[in-house]
Amino acid sequence: MRPDMMSGAFFPAVPDPYAARLMAVLYQMEQSQWLPDEQLRARQQGQLALLLRHAWDTAPGYRQRLESAGYASGKQPDRQMWSSIPVLTRSDLQHGHAFLASTAVPQAHGSVFTVESSGSTGIPVQALGTDLTRFFWQATTLRDHFWHRRDFSGSLFAIRPDRGSRDGIVSQQGWGPPVDMLMSSGPMWLMHSSTAIEEQLDRLCDVHPDYLMTLPSNLRELSLLAAGRGTRPIGMGIRTFGESVGEELRELVRESFGVPLVDIYSASETGYLALQCPLGGCYHVNAETVLLEVLDDDGLPCQPGGVGRVVVTTLHNFALPLIRYEVGDYAEVGGLCPCGRGLPVLTRILGRVRGMAVTPDGSRFWPSFPGESWMHVAPIRQLQLIQTARDRIEVTYAMERMLNDDEERQLTAALRSSLGFPYRMTCRWVDRIPRSPNGKFEDFISQVDD
Ligand SMILES: [Zn+2]
Repeated sequence: MRPDMMSGAFFPAVPDPYAARLMAVLYQMEQSQWLPDEQLRARQQGQLALLLRHAWDTAPGYRQRLESAGYASGKQPDRQMWSSIPVLTRSDLQHGHAFLASTAVPQAHGSVFTVESSGSTGIPVQALGTDLTRFFWQATTLRDHFWHRRDFSGSLFAIRPDRGSRDGIVSQQGWGPPVDMLMSSGPMWLMHSSTAIEEQLDRLCDVHPDYLMTLPSNLRELSLLAAGRGTRPIGMGIRTFGESVGEELRELVRESFGVPLVDIYSASETGYLALQCPLGGCYHVNAETVLLEVLDDDGLPCQPGGVGRVVVTTLHNFALPLIRYEVGDYAEVGGLCPCGRGLPVLTRILGRVRGMAVTPDGSRFWPSFPGESWMHVAPIRQLQLIQTARDRIEVTYAMERMLNDDEERQLTAALRSSLGFPYRMTCRWVDRIPRSPNGKFEDFISQVDD
């Protein structure tokens, strides 16, 4: 039994107040997911009104933006006013962070912390989160687990860029929060995604976990290697996050591992945006925590079948509100889902893709070079790495001006340190780094053949 639950109550367990709050919100989300579109929208509008008033009252940058759309404190925005609120770009956020943050975060929202995001277009941003945004992150994590009926007594193997040691594998009892707050869970292993693919697969074969969680590009390499070896080390399912998942990868995973792949659409600065439907193959927008728009080139909402820019409003972030924030991804709008949920539907998400890097001795790994390791060097807007040989990487950056020699030395040193190998690097200055023709942004491109 969990030590923080009430003693003397094993079945049913009586959770502590925080876990009970989580369950209470999850219970409401269980109901709201089935609401018809207009009822769901009406509830979103209620929350949105609170957010707009708060932003107007306490965030000077937003007062200006909202005023320009004809908003006045306490007013409920109609469709026309809403669409006149200027879209907040990553670049706006990068430069106007202090101006957009609230000067009076409600005490009840808890502590405020910084969130870094390298994002899907190579433009790093800093945002803020609160205990409340973390709380909704946790509630949505549980929603995802319950939708996909995961067995918490099973074992979980996570290969991630943000956790785990670069020197090996870390094991722990329990899946960590939020699952551990509610019940006991099975063993978990954490491994850093920069670990060589061969070693990742060796360890997976050693422990045979029930669930694997990793990045799509890493999973692709694992699938190819596992298919080559004819091994199937995952028992029940695979969960991906952080990059685009195409039909080709789903097919490859089905063939190599024989288990389903469930994807999550999220961003560090916004939290969860959409979860994969347990019945259909589409994604459902997490409408209780985010208002998500898909806009065409004229700024109008796309109809089902249309592909456009993803623009989101986070409904509970009162520290650094994100109102009509352009995440940097594209998505295709879907129609009604056969599961019957009223949550809006996306059929595809076109976000970031990342190629695998090759070490000087030829093994492949998922390259990690988070914004916080190099953002301090210069006001770089976008970054893209192209590996042209086993020992050589071309660094393309978009900035107002060229880097000076000293900045260039600092940038390449920071990247070498993040990647973990002394690659020879050359820097190239450009005005803007475009997306690939399929609409995805490639932040690491490998031109090295095996
Ligand atoms: Zn569905």
